[in-house]
Amino acid sequence: MQLTSRTLFSLYQIPATDPMMPAMEIYDHPTFRMACQQFDLVADRLQMPAAERDRIKYPKRAMTVALPIHRDDGSTQVFTGYRVQHHLTLGPTKGGLRFHPDVTIGEVAALAMWMSWKCALTGLPYGGAKGGVACDPGKLSITELERVTRRYTQEMIPFIGPQVDVMAPDLGTNEQIMAWMMDTYSVHVGATVPSIVTGKPVALGGSLGRREATGRGVGYLVNRATDTIGLDISKATAAIQGFGNVGSVAALSLARYGVKIVAVTDAFGGVYNSNGLDLWGLEKHVAGNKTVAGFAEAEPITNDQLLVLPCDILVPAAIERQITADNAPKIQCRIIAEAANGPTTPEADVILDQRSEIFIIPDVLCNAGGVVVSYFEWVQDLQSFFWGETEVVDKLFRILETAYTQVVSLSRKQKISMRLAALSLGIKRVQEAKRLRGLFP
Ligand code: GLU
Repeated sequence: MQLTSRTLFSLYQIPATDPMMPAMEIYDHPTFRMACQQFDLVADRLQMPAAERDRIKYPKRAMTVALPIHRDDGSTQVFTGYRVQHHLTLGPTKGGLRFHPDVTIGEVAALAMWMSWKCALTGLPYGGAKGGVACDPGKLSITELERVTRRYTQEMIPFIGPQVDVMAPDLGTNEQIMAWMMDTYSVHVGATVPSIVTGKPVALGGSLGRREATGRGVGYLVNRATDTIGLDISKATAAIQGFGNVGSVAALSLARYGVKIVAVTDAFGGVYNSNGLDLWGLEKHVAGNKTVAGFAEAEPITNDQLLVLPCDILVPAAIERQITADNAPKIQCRIIAEAANGPTTPEADVILDQRSEIFIIPDVLCNAGGVVVSYFEWVQDLQSFFWGETEVVDKLFRILETAYTQVVSLSRKQKISMRLAALSLGIKRVQEAKRLRGLFP
């Protein structure tokens, strides 16, 4: 039988009798299948009744919008934008907006699911969401980027709001994009509404410590993990895949704990130095060259080489499905800190589960610092009362500490992987909330 993506989808994910299948086929994508596979494992473990499964698993709402904009050369181009709101049970939906050429509705749906479990695991009063525009931000001028952003926000106005759905930066987006979104929404409402997005510039109601939050959280959790497995962090080495907002801050944060960063890659290349990379020099190089590639006093390294490099801490901080069945047997680290969303496939998980020498900090825990401080930003905006950075960082670490302790203790008690433990805690909380609210009408 020829396996098309459609047959694969039916074979591996949704039984032919599943009444949800025709509607949910719009999400078919390897990343969505992966998120569903992870969910099914947890649902089986929790012995979740069939009647609850589809209700908790599938996204509540999905929007696709056409975004026509004027290009600088006078032509018109239509981009496609998406937003998926996974569940509305615990409050507004929350999650980033990514600009990337390969964005699809299925990928966005998977990322929205993961946001749900992440928010529930850390006790935030949100459902998960994610958005995307299929475009290459590196190939758009700043004015074109602004037009895409404003048009996307405009098209999303019926579906967003501070109590409905709150966006934030993700891959390919940043504070400036959040500022344009906030402005577009505010002009529509006729008053300034900072709480419509998080990850804004501090000058517009953003939170101190939001930009650094994800990477800082990665550093904090890696430090905790080294305690757990008895590794001396001050003698540890790390390799980092991705040097955007998350990867670069994670590198600096780990360096502050005494970790030597020996390799970094990005979409254009990579650099390796067994004596440790000069991170300040690397930052400067990236500011001028838009890539780590070509940085002096380092040898070139590819992404594939970085993932299997001998080191203590491997930090995938780029995109999904990087650690696969192919490279999982060859990975040579003690800790995998998943700063990206979905970097490890379920097939790789099966292999890594057998390799008890590797400790995984799963994505929904490892990169949760970002959305936790987004929550702080939203709270500060709603109250128009702003906190100092020490207060933000202190509150962030407390939340991460609680989540980390709960995940480690469940993983040990039930002898399950850290991923299964983290997802179980998140999914169970959503299940409980849905049970308590009941089904209307
Ligand atoms: N995009 C980030 C994530 O994947 C942050 C989301 C947010 O702050 O709402 O967790």
